[in-house]
Amino acid sequence: MKEIYRDTRLVIDLSILANNVKLIRDMVGDKVAIACVVKANAYGHGAVEIAKTLMDAGADMLTVATLSEGVDLRKEHPEYPILIMGHTPDQYLEYVVKYDLIPTIFTLEQAELLNALAEKAGKPVKVHIKLDTGFHRLGFDARAMEETVGEIVKISKLSNLELEGMFTHLALAGDEENQRQMDLLFEARDQLKAKGISFKYMHAADSIATVDNPEYRLDMVRVGALVYGMRGFHKGFLPVEQALTFKTRISQLHHLKAGEGLSYDYLWKAPKDSVIATLPFGYADGYPRDMRDKGYVSIKGVKCPLVGVLCMDQLMADVSQVEGVKAGDEAVIYGSGPNEMTIEEAAKLVGSNKNEIIARLMERPARVYINGEL
Ligand SMILES: *Cc1c(COP(=O)(O)O)cnc(C)c1O
Repeated sequence: MKEIYRDTRLVIDLSILANNVKLIRDMVGDKVAIACVVKANAYGHGAVEIAKTLMDAGADMLTVATLSEGVDLRKEHPEYPILIMGHTPDQYLEYVVKYDLIPTIFTLEQAELLNALAEKAGKPVKVHIKLDTGFHRLGFDARAMEETVGEIVKISKLSNLELEGMFTHLALAGDEENQRQMDLLFEARDQLKAKGISFKYMHAADSIATVDNPEYRLDMVRVGALVYGMRGFHKGFLPVEQALTFKTRISQLHHLKAGEGLSYDYLWKAPKDSVIATLPFGYADGYPRDMRDKGYVSIKGVKCPLVGVLCMDQLMADVSQVEGVKAGDEAVIYGSGPNEMTIEEAAKLVGSNKNEIIARLMERPARVYINGEL
């Protein structure tokens, strides 16, 4: 194993990721393609490192948010289809061609530019058309359906582009609004079909819609949260499991007398004689600084509250109640065992969502990959 020089690490169980993809496959069946979303370094799990596991487990495509993420992935994985779901600025479009990535297109001008670059490179480029059905983030305006359809028809005539997909993104603003957005997508599909244009992949569903609204799976689902074991759905259910454990070890123990303070500004003072552990992780590892007075780590199965201001690289926990505690003992920061803080609980504690908690996990904590048992 690569030396990581540090006790603070993210342990990622590839067998759980693979099982999550298999559960998604069983749920959606064989006719629906699975695009695993690996943006933001695979929500902190390491995109390059987990790509093979996801594809081998049955994913059909990988999707990223940015060109840079796509290029990083492509350099390590020459074969996998990679869709960029975000905007690629014109000046970088040539790299989409160079690295065989699939861009999201939502203007005729950009399609024409890409067509010219593809012609110059002598290879066709696959694209997915994005339709804005209400999210108002990216896409051709579905409110101006006639104009939008007209432009997509023009794109379909560009001989170096292959229109592989058309998609939208749901705001998840309630059943009625979801349906209204989907109807706009269907309207565009029907009008284009009447003009002889169809797509291999029509897609709309993210993790929540994939589970809650089977009728929105269409030809392909774009699942991120589900792959990483986040259960955010409301109607349906899928027993995906968290694949990630965030761990460290105690650097030093301190014995504080009642009334002594610790960390910046002494914002915490020992209410009684206390044993305090210093732990070598902090907000620069992507742990929320907001966990002060809320968070805990688990040591020997005991919840140990964080005390005082969290620092960039270190923080302190009250370990008074842990029997026989010593420097070097393991502490679980995020886990899924008894008395361990799950990603879901972390999100609740700091008023965030699960995706943010994992996506913010930084480069610094090393990733260690296991397959089943450590
Ligand atoms: C991030 C993203 C997804 C995946 O969302 P999850 O909720 O993590 O499944 C799907 N589609 C688009 C366009 C996205 O940006």
